[in-house]
Amino acid sequence: MNLFGWQRAVIKVGSALIAPEGGPCSGQYLLSIARYINECRRLNREVVLVSSGSVAAGRSLIAHGEIPSIAEKQAMAAVGQTKMMANWSRFFDFPCAQILLTHEDLADRRRYVNIKNTIRELLNNGILPIVNENDSVATQELKVGDNDNLAALVAQVSDADLLMICSDIDGLYTADPRTHADAELIPHIKKITPQIYALAGGTTNKIATGGMRTKIEAAEKATLNGIHTLIVNGRNGQVFDRLLQNELLGSWFERQASPKKARKYWLQHTLKSHGEIQVDLGAQAALSKKGASLLSIGIQAVRGKFNKGDAVLVCAPDGTPLGKGISQYSALELAKIKGIQSRQIADILGYCPSDVVIHRDDLVLI
Ligand code: GLU
Repeated sequence: MNLFGWQRAVIKVGSALIAPEGGPCSGQYLLSIARYINECRRLNREVVLVSSGSVAAGRSLIAHGEIPSIAEKQAMAAVGQTKMMANWSRFFDFPCAQILLTHEDLADRRRYVNIKNTIRELLNNGILPIVNENDSVATQELKVGDNDNLAALVAQVSDADLLMICSDIDGLYTADPRTHADAELIPHIKKITPQIYALAGGTTNKIATGGMRTKIEAAEKATLNGIHTLIVNGRNGQVFDRLLQNELLGSWFERQASPKKARKYWLQHTLKSHGEIQVDLGAQAALSKKGASLLSIGIQAVRGKFNKGDAVLVCAPDGTPLGKGISQYSALELAKIKGIQSRQIADILGYCPSDVVIHRDDLVLI
């Protein structure tokens, strides 16, 4: 893919842009980002926003000492989150949806699939998902901790092909530009090496959690998963006008494989298969020739013990492996709904979390 030919982007906007200079939420830097999001959507590109700013937005509303306690910060996040959402919503004339996540949610296979389904549905309905960490419930050990890394995980769960990190710095420099006048911007990073990490200092912003290091970590996660990553200065409105003209003012971390290859690798080698679904000839043809999703009606037999969200092998009636995919149902549930129409699932199980058993985006053919 050409860097500018992306279809689905995760755009991360940091606290320094949402609540500049340690103050409350402000629209000052958001207008150009919002205009850019509008323009991208007009061009039929999908955008998921990862936004910080809940703690900053709630800061003035919760009494606190010099260094707020964890409970105080959690309360700030709770009251500030609605302010942050409202701050974004006023720029858009389409609906915005709030998704709050913790590290635990993304690590749990069942919840991972739920998050994926939710984002997919929101995008299909033209809604802008706005994701933040669920700071009010997540204590340190349950957190991703910073929204740069969270955005990389969100890019992966959304099957994005671009991650754009909007910060208050132009990109990655050869040295800290605030202290080194001769520091130069690095426009293109082919591969993230220890030398690249060595260029990152910590954060100097009192409100923001991340610094250049967490941005490089995020870029590393994303690029290994086939997602190009950009760091741009969200304070500079020109950045977004230029992006629309296929020009980058910032740093580009090149992806290490195509998203398809990276996904295939992830499904085939990283996710252990927990069981097998044997399909009939009709489903075999639909999966291999038409790129269809697997429906319950096409399932003949289910083997092994697996949960919703686990990877399973899909095989033909004669046992030949056809592919590997992420199941929307557990083995126990599939045993009850195999061979039946999707619309009957709710009658049999009492609920129907998904019309398909394996979504075509979550299936790789072998
Ligand atoms: N989740 C935090 C907030 O909304 C921000 C974390 C970060 O900026 O990295 O305030």
